[in-house]
Amino acid sequence: MEEEIGRGQRRLPSRPAIHPDEALDGYLERLATANGLDPAQLLRTVTTSDGTGALSLSFLMIKPAVEAVTRISDVSGLTESAVRSATLMRYGGGLPLHLEGFDPRDRHSFRNVVNQGWFPQTGSQICVECVAEDGIWRLQWRLPIVVVCLKHRNFLTACCNGCGLRFRLRRYSPLRASTDHACGNQLGLRQHCPHSILEGASQPAPDEVLSMQRSIDAALAGESINLMGQRVAPQVYLAELRNTATLLLHLLTRPGGRQRVHWGPALHAEASTRTTELRGPRWGVSPPTSSLIRAGALSEAWEIVTQSNLDDAATKLSPWLDLIAEIPNGPGAWLLNRTARTQAMERLIASALLSRQDVAGQVSRQRIEVPVSAIPQLIDRDIYFTVFAEMLGGYENTGRLYVSLCLVRAATSARNWSQAAGLLGLDPAVGPRTARAASARRSMEVLEFARRIRAVLARLSAERDFRAREDRVRQLASSPDSWFDQWCRSIAPARRVQSLPYAITWMWCEVAQGFLSASPAWTTSPDSRTRAAYQAFKSRLPENGEAALRELVVRTQSSSRRAR
Ligand SMILES: [Zn+2]
Ligand SMILES: [Zn+2]
Repeated sequence: MEEEIGRGQRRLPSRPAIHPDEALDGYLERLATANGLDPAQLLRTVTTSDGTGALSLSFLMIKPAVEAVTRISDVSGLTESAVRSATLMRYGGGLPLHLEGFDPRDRHSFRNVVNQGWFPQTGSQICVECVAEDGIWRLQWRLPIVVVCLKHRNFLTACCNGCGLRFRLRRYSPLRASTDHACGNQLGLRQHCPHSILEGASQPAPDEVLSMQRSIDAALAGESINLMGQRVAPQVYLAELRNTATLLLHLLTRPGGRQRVHWGPALHAEASTRTTELRGPRWGVSPPTSSLIRAGALSEAWEIVTQSNLDDAATKLSPWLDLIAEIPNGPGAWLLNRTARTQAMERLIASALLSRQDVAGQVSRQRIEVPVSAIPQLIDRDIYFTVFAEMLGGYENTGRLYVSLCLVRAATSARNWSQAAGLLGLDPAVGPRTARAASARRSMEVLEFARRIRAVLARLSAERDFRAREDRVRQLASSPDSWFDQWCRSIAPARRVQSLPYAITWMWCEVAQGFLSASPAWTTSPDSRTRAAYQAFKSRLPENGEAALRELVVRTQSSSRRAR
């Protein structure tokens, strides 16, 4: 009973209502003003009011001691839970902070929480317009993951224009020295920054940053969110978004990163102030000060993690990996050492690296419009041997077919190897089989291979119509009476009737540059004896015999085209 009276007696006469988003320190300043006290007097009321001696207000905004909560509740009339909810405890339980290992009475235990990713440093960001409007300091502004004010659609301001320090930087007192709009950061023993926090224009934030911030707000409010196609708990979403942003910050701190994004120069400037002889900035522990840089990294990360599946997320991450292309021993370890090793991060990084190994992904990145008819089933032998053989090895037919399939994928919207094979008039199953066989033999840099594919494609003559040549050979195969006897007699020694399928196949392979198995001379893929017989025919064919066969396909084709 006595205690009840005591508590009631300590209550201040004027008690403004707390704003639902308000931070405790800002509220206590308003409480002081409402009662005609200055902040220091209010703090004395709180810390000495029960006569048991001074009470520590260390960690007031992070996790105040139980007694501090009780006393603030006493003087303000707020419930104890309302007091706690105006501190960072509101964002505990992984939303996004973990405060479990921290006991405010044990300073050393602060180490348990301070190194978790993006733990709020002392001080606060502000939305200048919010403060100008209602004087309420929002608790949320303390979280580095919060970068904009959704109400005013502007970037939060991270530092005072006067002293250059974060607002409400805590040196000794948890409250500012002033209750007006002066910054009030303590600069010397009795010297405080007089600069008005309302000075300085705020920058409008682009739509993608606002959308990204909305997803963060939803997660902070406890909603589950889509992460690479899976609905995940808000704690997971917030952590993985931060991990991905951290990875991007490290990538963009690389030499080539300055030009890649508009906030690159600012990032590099901050990185240089945070780089020591021993190590570079630890973006995973303490993120960049500027809200614009954090917003840039978080928005790019948001683009990645909100894709509807892992593959698409990996495709979004993949272009950034150019920045570490020259890292020795492969970029996998480099990446994993620069973010949290969660399962989601490991899978994302592995997929992104895999997609860079993927020739198809690389060759189809930049479409070069060439008619498919200009692409033979087997690329020209001389092109193959001068440009690709060292990369693909000596298996000529597989190699030439593979190059042609790559050319089709670079020239068309074919989405897979089967479609590419189909566009060349081949059995679709040939496509993936060839791609598998070729990639097993590949000893090459994918980007260089893709570059060569594009170079060859750009030089390919659109005058050659290989589909028309194939048609012509089929036509000749179905009417041998019109040409075969005459051709046999024209060369010495005269060829036997049995050589008809080989003559057809020679035209198919050498003039139409067709795939041997697809020759119209046979209906099923030839066995090894037939293949050997064809090779024998081919090697013994005299020059004039070749010329005559070539002419049958090409000249007639061009004359019939003229006739059309
Ligand atoms: Zn605002
Ligand atoms: Zn200042």
